[in-house]
Amino acid sequence: MTTRYRVEYALKTHRRDQFIEWIKGLLAVPFVLYSQPHGVFEYPPSSPELGTSPPGSPNPVLIKAREEAHRRYAEILHDVELMIDDHIAHQNDPDNPFPSKLKLLVPSIGPFFTRLPLEAAFKFQDRKRYISSRRFVSPSFNDVRLILNSAQLISVTSTTPGSTLQLATFDGDVTLYDDGQSLEPSSPIIPRLLDLLRKNIKIGIVTAAGYTSADRYYARLHGLLDSIAASADLSPIQKRSVIIMGGEANYLFQFDPSSEHLLSPVPRSEWLTPEMLLWDDRDIAQLLDIAETALADCIKTLNLPAVLMRKDRAVGIIPSDPSIRIPRESLEETVLCVQKILELSSAGRNKKVPFCAFNGGNDVFVDIGDKSWGVTVCQRWFADGETGKPIKGENTLHVGDQFLSAGANDFRARSVGTTAWIASPAETVELLDELGELMGKKMS
Ligand code: IMP
Ligand code: MG
Repeated sequence: MTTRYRVEYALKTHRRDQFIEWIKGLLAVPFVLYSQPHGVFEYPPSSPELGTSPPGSPNPVLIKAREEAHRRYAEILHDVELMIDDHIAHQNDPDNPFPSKLKLLVPSIGPFFTRLPLEAAFKFQDRKRYISSRRFVSPSFNDVRLILNSAQLISVTSTTPGSTLQLATFDGDVTLYDDGQSLEPSSPIIPRLLDLLRKNIKIGIVTAAGYTSADRYYARLHGLLDSIAASADLSPIQKRSVIIMGGEANYLFQFDPSSEHLLSPVPRSEWLTPEMLLWDDRDIAQLLDIAETALADCIKTLNLPAVLMRKDRAVGIIPSDPSIRIPRESLEETVLCVQKILELSSAGRNKKVPFCAFNGGNDVFVDIGDKSWGVTVCQRWFADGETGKPIKGENTLHVGDQFLSAGANDFRARSVGTTAWIASPAETVELLDELGELMGKKMS
């Protein structure tokens, strides 16, 4: 996900990182012009304008350089913030046929549900990551990713009317637990999720992991489910505010203290959206057949140490032995190859059934639907009891790790709500702490 792992592609259309790279490029200019790498050689610290400081005191040259870099980075991010405001004004004006300046500069940019207070977010991250103090390493992709996350959190907790967070959805693997692992009782994420419930925020776990029965989800999420069941201070309504949307958008389970695995399955007839009701089983089977053949071909062509796994709403390839790592390039090649074959097939061309082909880290899956549908179902499930209106995109935050690799299944949620891009469960903990702090400030 970071630049370390970047793979070059023949097909560029799926690249989602342009906006971050663009901001990174803007910040590289003041870094080059103002950073003072020679400052490290000047010890004891001295400068013609600032004089010599006593031994042990901070180097005035470096302090000056840091302040200057901070000021310039903050100014640039403030300017980008204004460009996003302009972009929002364009997207909300149906009579304006012209693209915003931001759209012209970053053609892949999507819609924004909220403002992004980038300057404030930068100041917050600079205090944590000492970005302006660095003289050899310029603001990185990860710095910008985290600034964007902070800006999104500030925005969904701001005091602007209508901008409160109501629904938080989380990916599973890499977001709540390490890839392929489970949410164990000791996970620091659990008390933080309980805290969200206490604040009456609804929680959806929107995972690609597709199981038809509650016991399998209990196995992955037992730490959380047991803690909710045992909690003495959560009300019954708060406890029922947790749902699991599995297989991206295929299986819905609700927390249920009376059921054996603390989850009860919700029949599709109760939650499919009108559009999803039109997905015909024959079209689904046809799409999965084509995907299965394409995946089998990739196993042969790339000599992958993998086997096929067919499910009723998905088909994938997994390592033939759990200890085997499939090369990242082979996984990405497989995703792009299967995706193209599906898009060009008659089932894909008539677009009756949406699908999501993605690289899951050590496997590749093609799922029916994607996380944009999964998050939409959560928004509708928790619709306002009086008005029946679903939770809006600006009141939804989806947290996930897949925004860059081929298929990037969490990126799909970007079209229906705000998102935060994390790189590990530890980052999710930090993000939830930041969110808790911001919500605390708002309430006080
Ligand atoms: P997520 O990160 O929570 O979205 O989970 C993605 C992972 O779930 C994949 O990488 C697979 O290892 C696993 N998985 C299990 N069953 C399925 C399925 O039916 N579709 C997609 N992924 C699955
Ligand atoms: Mg994941």
